[in-house]
Parts: sequence; structure tokens; C-alpha cells
Amino acid sequence: MLPKTADIIIVGAGIMGAATAFHLTSRGSGHVLVLEKDAIGSASTGRTGGIIRQHYSNAITARMARRSLEVFQNFDEVVGGNAGFTETGALFIVHREDCDGLAANVELQQSVGIDTRLIEAETVRELAPYLDVTDDVVAAYEPASGNADGTGVATGFAQAAQRRGAEVHQSLAVTDISVEDGRATGVRTTAGDVRAPRVAVTAGPWGGRLLQGVGVDLPLEVSRHQVASVRRPAGVPESHHPTVIDFVHACYMRSETGRLTLIGSVEPEEAKNIVDPDDYKLSTDREFVEEYVERASRRFAVLMDSEIMEGWSGLYTVTPDWHPIIDAVPGIDGLFCTLGFSGHGFKLGPVVGEMLADLVTAESQCPIDSSIFNARRFEEGEPIRGKYEYSILG
Ligand SMILES: Cc1cc2nc3c(=O)[nH]c(=O)nc-3n(C[C@H](O)[C@H](O)[C@H](O)COP(=O)(O)OP(=O)(O)OC[C@H]3O[C@@H](n4cnc5c(N)ncnc54)[C@H](O)[C@@H]3O)c2cc1C
Repeated sequence: MLPKTADIIIVGAGIMGAATAFHLTSRGSGHVLVLEKDAIGSASTGRTGGIIRQHYSNAITARMARRSLEVFQNFDEVVGGNAGFTETGALFIVHREDCDGLAANVELQQSVGIDTRLIEAETVRELAPYLDVTDDVVAAYEPASGNADGTGVATGFAQAAQRRGAEVHQSLAVTDISVEDGRATGVRTTAGDVRAPRVAVTAGPWGGRLLQGVGVDLPLEVSRHQVASVRRPAGVPESHHPTVIDFVHACYMRSETGRLTLIGSVEPEEAKNIVDPDDYKLSTDREFVEEYVERASRRFAVLMDSEIMEGWSGLYTVTPDWHPIIDAVPGIDGLFCTLGFSGHGFKLGPVVGEMLADLVTAESQCPIDSSIFNARRFEEGEPIRGKYEYSILG
């Protein structure tokens, strides 16, 4: 039964809401109530590509990715449950003319303790002989990166929060945030009202609409992104291959169990596929699959001869600088949000949970300051920029 009151309400149980509930309950922050309109991890988190990499073009997100990676690597011990983390290594391939930018980013990542290095084509060949690197490319290589399972991670965080006393309700939608005299006082739901002095909106693609309901308009757009899936012929390679982010052909390839390779786009143009989060095509388009299997096969030839499997589509919630908003909602006391992770939020989720827990409790337990992700930066003309940035990749 839905309680009438709580200390903190979290709206949405994707990775962000679940990780925030985990950190709040680990700190003993009172009665935490998580409300999820569908099922835990059922939206962007459950439809993620799941790539866990640390290659970023600014120090803060690189540090966030590094700290989060440690949680994915030790998930059962730190959180409990199965994150499905598989270490595959990750390669970031650019044409030689972009080598200076790649080298500068690698240096930045090394300066924050990330195990990464610049490698020439011959070393790529030693790592992955099935990749074609004859087009004068260089690469950055992160051996510790890999991939994880979205639903498993969100479920692990949510169950750990429940063991620490959080109440999690699924199939229960928040219809409105209640505000009185400029203060959040709770939420209205499909099962009745709940009062609480603090409300955190982690509603992913629906978060912008929910905040519009209380007169807050954040620059968030929801776009559809596709993931193609192919089964490689036996032995190429038999188990996992490194994640390949190929900036020359603007695509990524990451391995999955069962000799599958997942293929997606890193074209910023993809964000123009604006859709209604309640009404979009969940499967892939034939044209997309054909185009991206062809692009990927220019690097990984065997993919052209692979069996096409069922892929899927999911939603990015995109901000103008491709970085999230992690902030107190301007103008409404007691209301907080973390939204707009674009296509790269999953790998940052464990640390974002710490950051949002800090904001909600006015503590500073996370060693990485989240203030750069403030909501005001867009209207103040100060978007987050890396020196050699990748927009869609952050
Ligand atoms: C195709 C695809 C590939 C991706 N690939 C990667 C990748 O390789 N690596 C990476 O790091 N990131 C990737 N991402 C991005 C990453 O998955 C997202 O940034 C991340 O999952 C966002 O998590 P979230 O918790 O903010 O949102 P969500 O997972 O969408 O969670 C929001 C939750 O809120 C609930 N909700 C919404 N409104 C309400 C309401 N009114 N009441 C109650 N509940 C509500 C929803 O049902 C949902 O469960 C990818 C995303 C997609 C779609």
C-alpha cells in the first residue's frame, strides 16, 4: 500500500533513480520512496547499449566514469546482485589527422588515473587481428572497459536500497509534483497523493514533461536511437571482442554473449529523430541495420557475413551540450533532478546516484563536485565543453 508520507520521493527507477535510492538508504537518510510507472530499469536503462568506457574529453566526466567502473567491476560486493559486467577492453579509433585531439584526451584521462594509452595500427592488429586498420588510423586503448546489463544494474541498486529500508512501488505513475509556496510538498500518483519535503525527478525521457507541469522548462529533447544486432560466424572471435568506437565510420560495435555484436551510431545527427516517449517504434528500421552493418564491416569485415538478429530502439534524453543536468530545480525548494544523459549516462550512473544523494541531503560525500552540471548553464551561455570533444559521446 502506498504510504501517505515519506522523507524523500524518487520518481523513476532507471539506473539514476535506483542508484540514488541506494546511496540515500546507505546513508540512513530516512524513509525513501521510489515510484516507478512501469518496471525497474524498463526504459532507457533496459534498452541501453551498456558500454562502460572511460574515454571522455573533460576531467569531470572521465573521473565519474573511472569511479563508476569500480562499482561495475565489484558490483556484487559493493551493491549486491549481478551487473553482468564483462571486461572486453575498448578501442577508440580516429584517422591520423585527428591524432592530436585523441592524444590530448588520452593525456587528460591518464592525469585522472585512467589506464589508457595511444596505440598504432600494428598494436590494434595484435589485440584484434580481425579488424581492418589499413586506413591510416591511430587508437586509444582502455583494457579495463567493457559492458554491463542495464536491467541487472538497476535491479541490483533498487533491491539493495530495499534491503536498507527503501520502499519501491512499480506500475505506479507520478502524475504531478505538488508545490506549495515555492516548495515541493510531495507528488500526486495514480494511487493517491504522497507528501514529502524532498522530491527527486529521475524520470529519464519523461522528466522534462513532469517538470513542465510545475512551470520549469529545461532544454531536453527525446530522440530515438537504434541498436543493430548480428551473430558472427564461429571463431571470429569465439568469445568477446573489444568495444570499438570508430570515429572514422561514426559507429560503435560491442560484443555480447552468444557471438553477438551490437552495432550503433555515434553520428550526432541521430539526435534529430525526436519522438514522443509514449509512442515510438521499439524495433529497428531495415535501412538503419543495412547502413550500420555496412559501416561496421568496413572495420570488422566479418560482420557483413553475419546473421542479422533482432535489434531494438531506445530513447536518449538530450541536452544542448550532451551533458546531464544534476541539480536542485531552479525556483522550487526541495525539488531535485538528474536528467539529460544523452547517449552516455549508463556508465556514469553509480556516481550520479552519489551526486544526487549529496544534493538531496545537502552533504558532500561524493569526491566529485557536480556543480558543473547545473541547470543554469544553458541560459547563462556556459555549456560544458571539452577541448577535443565528441558531442554524442561527451
Ligand atoms: C539505444 C541506447 C543505447 C545506449 N548506449 C549506452 C551505452 O552504451 N553506454 C552508456 O553509458 N549509456 C548508453 N545509453 C544511455 C543510457 O542508457 C541512459 O543515459 C541511462 O539509462 C538513463 O537512465 P535514467 O535512469 O536517467 O533513465 P531511464 O532508464 O529512462 O529511467 C527513467 C524511469 O523513470 C520512469 N518514469 C518516468 N516517468 C515517470 C512517472 N511520471 N512516474 C513514475 N515513473 C516514471 C520510467 O518508467 C523509467 O523507468 C544508451 C541509451 C540508449 C537508448
